[in-house]
Amino acid sequence: MTELVSKWNYPTTVRFGAGRISELPDALAAANIKRPLFVTDPGLAKLPVVASTLKLLDDAKIQYGVFSDVKPNPVGSNLTAGIEAFKRGQHDGVIAFGGGSGLDLGKLIAFQAGQTRPVWDFEDIGDWWTRADSDAIAPIVAVPTTAGTGSEVGRAGVITHEETHTKKVIFHPKLLPAIVIADPELTVGMPPFITAGTGMDAFAHCIEAYCAPGYHPMADGIAVEGIRLVFENLPKAYANGKDLTARAHMMSAAAMGAAAFQKGLGAIHSLSHPVGALYDTHHGMTNAVFMPYVLAFNRDAIEERIARLAAYIGIEGGFDGFAKAVLKLRKELGVPHALPDLIKGLDMDEKRKELIADMAIVDPTAGGNPVKLTQKAALTLLDNSIAGTVPGAAG
Ligand code: NAD
Repeated sequence: MTELVSKWNYPTTVRFGAGRISELPDALAAANIKRPLFVTDPGLAKLPVVASTLKLLDDAKIQYGVFSDVKPNPVGSNLTAGIEAFKRGQHDGVIAFGGGSGLDLGKLIAFQAGQTRPVWDFEDIGDWWTRADSDAIAPIVAVPTTAGTGSEVGRAGVITHEETHTKKVIFHPKLLPAIVIADPELTVGMPPFITAGTGMDAFAHCIEAYCAPGYHPMADGIAVEGIRLVFENLPKAYANGKDLTARAHMMSAAAMGAAAFQKGLGAIHSLSHPVGALYDTHHGMTNAVFMPYVLAFNRDAIEERIARLAAYIGIEGGFDGFAKAVLKLRKELGVPHALPDLIKGLDMDEKRKELIADMAIVDPTAGGNPVKLTQKAALTLLDNSIAGTVPGAAG
């Protein structure tokens, strides 16, 4: 029997609801931030959603700086430049505004600006986070504009180490924002590809957390409801970006995925991280590609759990019915079925495959997979996802 011993951490204060971005000045005061650095990505920086948010700060006479040198899949040099901006402007906190890229980089600037060790020393390995000076971490107000990563309620930030081409997960309990404004109106401008990819990211978080071994019934409950919300609302948000109800439910599902994945993630993420780092693919969309292959690989270990999940959502046919529903959902959302459909002109020789498999098995998420992810298994999963072959799937 699984030991009934675990450690639970639950999200932070979330001001949830359409229009609540207007509370940003109040949230800053509540988080004791007087001179925020507003961190976002350059694409968003050009959109009206940023202009109207900055106007709220102007109207409230808040002195702020803006930093937007943030790549999708942010890299170490973005962090260095962001810390310089933070120090130059004598900021005392961060507004992390955006999808996972803007959120993570904003969170990491607030975390790292006062540290003396390199950020890589705080990778999510063992108790490395205790190396950080907790008192030197600036407060964070997070404002998500995508509904996927759930980074707004997470205690981690993901950043690519440029020299080694590896995505590193940096962890510290104080990377958790003090306050979140989750306003679904901010997500209506997301183009369909990003809506689909980010929504599938929320799904991947929930399903991997739910399947991860370990005792965490709260995470399991959250994951199951998160998956139901994705099945019911992601196709609606994809078909009509202005459907605010669907957008709101997806925003919840995203936060739920991140709350749930403190239980663990698995091979979807272990494969997605190296592929994202090497090919700069969208994280959620890459997860979506790998999902059916990994579910099939884990089948023996998760069949019963997935049958329970399917029954809750109202999907008939147990594991097989669920696996079919995943394929149908992907198709509806235009998710590429095989890796070469995601990465055009993909030419992966054996050496490259071995590199990805090697990176996957040491990724911190690999330990959460319900079946041990060996190098051989990772290679098989890669081969299947390149060929588009889902073992056991009919038709
Ligand atoms: P993203 O932040 O990279 O954004 C993708 C694109 O969407 C960008 O071009 C951005 O400008 C645009 N965009 C964002 N919001 C928009 C809006 N409202 N309207 C129009 N365009 C908009 O994408 P993402 O999927 O949210 O984040 C991916 C990043 O998050 C990756 O780096 C990934 O590794 C990381 N991640 C972090 C965690 C975590 O726990 N911290 C979890 C999962 C993923």
